[in-house]
Amino acid sequence: MPKPRQGKLFDELPRAPRIWRMHVNDAGDGCCQFKCRRCGHDSGWIKWEWPVNENHVGKARRGIPCPNCNSEKTESQ
Ligand SMILES: [Zn+2]
Repeated sequence: MPKPRQGKLFDELPRAPRIWRMHVNDAGDGCCQFKCRRCGHDSGWIKWEWPVNENHVGKARRGIPCPNCNSEKTESQ
């Protein structure tokens, strides 16, 4: 039996569309390779600058949207 904990707390909020992201698979000098854990899509090596700026690194760590997975679900966005 599933736990009866799925509250109604979030039911009234608009559901944010799930964005599947590809995560860094490998990173080199000035380029980065992302891979999707869901569909296995491989971005290949794309140019990615790694300045000393932490935000930029954070952006890469967070991942980039997977073109495969997101085109399946969100057609009109
Ligand atoms: Zn994917």
